[in-house]
Amino acid sequence: MAEGGFLRQAQDGVVHVVGAGLAGLAAAISLLAAGRRVALYEASPQAGGRCRSYYDSELSCRIDNGNHLLLSGNAAALSYIERIGALATFEGPAEPVFPFVDRASGERWELRPNRGLLPWWIFLRRRRVPGSRATHYLAARSLRHADPQATVAATLGEERALYRRLWEPLAVAALNTPASCGSARLFGRVLEETLLKGGRACRPLVPREGLSESFVEPALARLESAGAVIRFGARLRTLLMSGARVSGLAFEGAEVALQEGDGVVLAVPATAAGRLVPGLTVPSRHAPIVNAHFRAAAPAGAPLFVAVIGGAAQWIFRKKGVLSVTVSAADDLVDEGIEALRERLWGDVAFAYRLPSAPLPAARILKERRATFLASPDELRRRPGAATRWQNLALAGDYTDTGLPATIEGAIRSGFAAAAVLAGQERNIGVLRRQPKRKTLL
Ligand SMILES: Cc1cc2nc3c(=O)[nH]c(=O)nc-3n(C[C@H](O)[C@H](O)[C@H](O)COP(=O)(O)OP(=O)(O)OC[C@H]3O[C@@H](n4cnc5c(N)ncnc54)[C@H](O)[C@@H]3O)c2cc1C
Repeated sequence: MAEGGFLRQAQDGVVHVVGAGLAGLAAAISLLAAGRRVALYEASPQAGGRCRSYYDSELSCRIDNGNHLLLSGNAAALSYIERIGALATFEGPAEPVFPFVDRASGERWELRPNRGLLPWWIFLRRRRVPGSRATHYLAARSLRHADPQATVAATLGEERALYRRLWEPLAVAALNTPASCGSARLFGRVLEETLLKGGRACRPLVPREGLSESFVEPALARLESAGAVIRFGARLRTLLMSGARVSGLAFEGAEVALQEGDGVVLAVPATAAGRLVPGLTVPSRHAPIVNAHFRAAAPAGAPLFVAVIGGAAQWIFRKKGVLSVTVSAADDLVDEGIEALRERLWGDVAFAYRLPSAPLPAARILKERRATFLASPDELRRRPGAATRWQNLALAGDYTDTGLPATIEGAIRSGFAAAAVLAGQERNIGVLRRQPKRKTLL
């Protein structure tokens, strides 16, 4: 990393984006669109952070660090994908269809919300969860007005089939937090932007190749072609403050002096931000995610993903020559041995995709112990906003107060919000964080 190179690039009006996860990439793309010059610094040798792909030598193929599902109602994510020209890299069913299997009863069903706002699908047995009634779905309305301290489990009730077969698995996946301590309001916000807006807002979308091909590489290409400076292996050690401004960035082995008019977007994870910014409060509790990638092909015509009820696996994704399992809020599994996990999770995959349970295919088990912050009511109060008390410093990252859980949508929205702060468009933040209009009929 050449110090001179840094300093030459850091001229007036440059915004220095630190951290090249989705929050940092979204901030950089948004700043370029606003006419700012951008320098992007990333500690690791590659971009993408917790949302990226890499070659796995055990499986002899590329895999994603974790399975990521996007929904058509994720407006910020889709706007980002459009801006980086990557819309065509996604695939998904033409209609909103969510296949489920119940490991205990062997039942299989599909949740099929209709496209429009009026949710007539809840009145049709073949479209809704077996064992549920249309009136049970109305409970989702109570999330909106739930007490800020209320949990998903306390608000939606644990006794009904609908809770076990829909609300709990959706909440655990969306919040990466057990429903017994996940914030009811935050889950309500996710539903308001997706399922409660009708099927048009919850069509599943997944990258056709991989996360990096859809979210990261097109963004880097766009930044490079617009002349942005991109530095890998650049770990920020200290933010140098002078009065109400950041005056410099101290990286390992190099310093960047900020000029008048320069700004900084700090887009590192919560713990790193807490260390770098004096007095910053950030969420301190995290939840694990376990992913298992099996080198196995799904039968022809098998669905792109399946939700498993009552198994160790929660969601299974079909990819090119690989079947991938996600277990969110995986506190019960994260300390289990790799071989035991491989056997247990493959049992669920084989059941869901009607494959032989033996022999066990080659697998890569990935345990992310601190995958995202715990979305409990208490932790939500620790989320900082995008603006800071330093005039030229804005924060981005899924942990900031986006009004959403730690997701792709939240991370990208945070990047847009930080860019708006530095572009002097604070008014826009209200637009970005505004409660969605109550155009939901459930
Ligand atoms: C296994 C797993 C599965 C997931 N599944 C889903 C899903 O299905 N749907 C969904 O929406 N979301 C999912 N998420 C969440 C989603 O991946 C994250 O919310 C999002 O990627 C966070 O982006 P970020 O930019 O805020 O943080 P990060 O991706 O963590 O990016 C921060 C970057 O900053 C860099 N950095 C750190 N310190 C420094 C420093 N001092 N100097 C310079 N750079 C630094 C890091 O190397 C990193 O690249 C999942 C996450 C995981 C881990």
